[in-house]
Amino acid sequence: MFAIKSNTNYAVRAICNEEGVGGDCFGPGEVEATYIAGADPKTIALNGTVKPELAIRKAIEYGYAIHLDSYEEIEIVERIAAEVKPKEKVRIAVRLKVIPEDFFNDFEPDAYPFPNFIGAMKWIKFGLLKEEAKKIVNRVKEIDAFEFYGFHTHLGRFSKQPEGWDALYREYARNVIEISRECGVQPFQIDLGGGWPREREPECRSVENMMNPNTIEDYAAIVCKGMLEEFNKEGFEIPQLWLEPGRYIAGNIGTLLTSVYVVKDDQEMDYTYTMVDASTYLATLVESQESKNPVLPANKMTQPLVEKTTEIAGPICIPSIWESGARMPALEPKDVLAIMDVGHYAESQASQFNSLPRPATVLVKDGEAELIKRAETVEDVFATQILPERFKKAKAELEKQRKA
Ligand SMILES: *Cc1c(COP(=O)(O)O)cnc(C)c1O
Repeated sequence: MFAIKSNTNYAVRAICNEEGVGGDCFGPGEVEATYIAGADPKTIALNGTVKPELAIRKAIEYGYAIHLDSYEEIEIVERIAAEVKPKEKVRIAVRLKVIPEDFFNDFEPDAYPFPNFIGAMKWIKFGLLKEEAKKIVNRVKEIDAFEFYGFHTHLGRFSKQPEGWDALYREYARNVIEISRECGVQPFQIDLGGGWPREREPECRSVENMMNPNTIEDYAAIVCKGMLEEFNKEGFEIPQLWLEPGRYIAGNIGTLLTSVYVVKDDQEMDYTYTMVDASTYLATLVESQESKNPVLPANKMTQPLVEKTTEIAGPICIPSIWESGARMPALEPKDVLAIMDVGHYAESQASQFNSLPRPATVLVKDGEAELIKRAETVEDVFATQILPERFKKAKAELEKQRKA
């Protein structure tokens, strides 16, 4: 179930369809993008702690599953279902908050900078603990328009350590068994969420930490083994396992190309700056989570590196550093640098800070490029703004004076 928030290009969703991949979505935009790109609704779920009415309505119309995140939202979904009157029952899952307390007590996540991890997990707004989840399942069973079909949890990219994933999902299995037995239900599926670490991880905040020795197969093996043991121990019928990777699928599919504007090599300064035209706000994880994305000299890959290091800096009015102390070949204006691993969360979080239009996106296959998103114009940046009439008079006056 591809988490489309990580990359909302229709073409990426369409490739997922070809590969038989389902999806997670959040809010009316992602519901619509998933639909427009032609995903199979049976494999799509709507998540979120706040689900705007339009998202719920469309999700029910299209036949997506809905993952509840509070008891209170049952009646919202029930009311909208009564209005939409879908032919089939709405498939409902419940999002659990899974906290393996013993393991997380002195656990150090390598992604979240939370000193008190277990405290943060208890505080975080997502999901429900067991007793509240039982109340929801019991209520869902009573509603004719609903079909209880499973459980959901998602902790996010918290650790590369396989032991953390093992502990998390064993606890999840135990919670699922307890809730299902007490409520007299059998889940069709249990959704493990996303956060699966990749082999090369810029979001690890340091180049030294970037390589992950574990593969996705390693995580699959440890998680399946642990959950299977927990289910078998209790003689519980094995539900389908679904998962929702975002970064794992989209991470390394994106490369941001940027041109050198000037190399500022003031002899009085200790630093050389390679000024490039791509804002770091086009990959906001670089700013918000100190992501370290490798930068490669795309058109000079075979040229020797020069001795003096350089700061590679974007145009915007913050330091906007893509890489500090980079070893590069001799660079000059119009050289092209490639910023790697921006397939996840870059385009979907990119901002137009400094009113810079965002670039185009092309899909590359067998050496051919197809435009899948046109570049924005300055008009696009301001397309939603409205200048009240009363300010226009003063502007016209100024214009008149200027001409006179
Ligand atoms: C963000 C999110 C994902 C994807 O997370 P990744 O870390 O990108 O794999 C999956 N499911 C839910 C509910 C999410 O919020």
